[in-house]
Amino acid sequence: AKPVHPLLDRTRRSAELYEEAARYMPGGVTANIKHFDPYPLFMESASGARLYDVDSNDYIDYNLCYGALMLGHGHPQVLEAVREQLSRMGTPVFGTPHEMEVEMAKKLAALVPGVETVRFTNSGMEATLFALRLARAWTGKRKVAKFEGHYHGGYDQVLVSVSTRERKRGAPPEARADSMGVPEEIREQTVVLPFNDWETTESVLDRQAEELGAVILEPVQAGFIPPDPEFLSKLREYTHRHGIPLIFDEVKTGFRMGLSGAQGRFGVIPDLTALGKVLGGGFPIGAVGGRREIMELASPVRSGDILGGDKGAQGSEVLFHSGTYNGHPTVLSAGLATIRVLEKAGAFEAVEKATTKLRQGMEEILLRRGFIAQSVGTGTIFNLVFGDHPVREAQDVLRSDLTMRRRLDHLLLEQGIYIKPLNRFSLSTAHVDAEVNETLTRFEAGVKQLRR
Ligand code: PLP
Repeated sequence: AKPVHPLLDRTRRSAELYEEAARYMPGGVTANIKHFDPYPLFMESASGARLYDVDSNDYIDYNLCYGALMLGHGHPQVLEAVREQLSRMGTPVFGTPHEMEVEMAKKLAALVPGVETVRFTNSGMEATLFALRLARAWTGKRKVAKFEGHYHGGYDQVLVSVSTRERKRGAPPEARADSMGVPEEIREQTVVLPFNDWETTESVLDRQAEELGAVILEPVQAGFIPPDPEFLSKLREYTHRHGIPLIFDEVKTGFRMGLSGAQGRFGVIPDLTALGKVLGGGFPIGAVGGRREIMELASPVRSGDILGGDKGAQGSEVLFHSGTYNGHPTVLSAGLATIRVLEKAGAFEAVEKATTKLRQGMEEILLRRGFIAQSVGTGTIFNLVFGDHPVREAQDVLRSDLTMRRRLDHLLLEQGIYIKPLNRFSLSTAHVDAEVNETLTRFEAGVKQLRR
């Protein structure tokens, strides 16, 4: 029997739409992550911190398109920039170089410490894929190392051990494909490391160092588990010593942990950085930036193939990178407008302050009502974990009471707090004091109904 959705009576139109959706799309969704039981909610409009569904229920949004909307929904400066750009250009896209991509590349080089030159993509997934290719080309090595529980997009080489299984502490994680259809020969090229466990990480790296073309990680796991103080610097030192390019996947942390990302915050500079999400101001984007000499492998000028073909230069001398919509001007105008807002003094501090207030308030409510729970996070993203053990990696989340969390999330949806069940909470500049206070009132009403 399907679980009873707490919103069942108030979300009839979502239920109807879902039934229709499931006839035309597998599982009724266009991304697996959008699904939850018994059916996902269909939204109709949004403004600031609020989402409105097709049944006219309102929610304070803490999903924010998986963290992408750092300014909340429909920020006037972002909307205006896009309108203005469209009317100035007279078309959404040229398919040629244009000034806006130069402006954004300059901006990234100025703001993100590890970025000297840049290439744009259309998603975070393409950005990590291109970064890994650059690193493998630079080293001439086949394998890449990633961390258990770290997500870099849905392609074969990184769709390995994103989900976790319990293992003994100190035991190296198994490399397991997270999807059907990932060829064994590709999975074998991926080495899996345990986040925040330097001893085990180092011993696995020692065994593989000769074959490794890259180490990639989310500097803050899943956007909310911070690195131990020494972990990133030890990894930096090790990879530098062995000539292995270190890639920070800052798709989630970029323009959330300040303008310089997690690398600026923690003072550890990678060779290559993948960006996305906030960078597009709500439109699809990705970018790879890094050390000039590595990035330069992608230059068609290197091989003398300045003219390219209609697929660009593809000789073995050149690293292939293209995309019909790369550097899309409409997207970049939204991204640049977003960065301009975030550059104003105190922008991040205000969101972090609201995040701290919300986290502390939620913890206080849960503890006062007798639950053993904690918030885990850093900056403007956090997660709620039922348990009082330290949370330092994906394994620790697995050891918490996920059934209770799922139950809470459904009650929160009923109270008008939008969270994808089991997912993280992200805040934006639109989550000001009034929203935080209202969320805490709604949260308390939800927790009141939570049964052990
Ligand atoms: N890397 C990280 C850390 C992410 O969080 C995500 C998306 O959630 C991606 C890469 C993939 O980005 P996209 O969904 O834009 O392809």
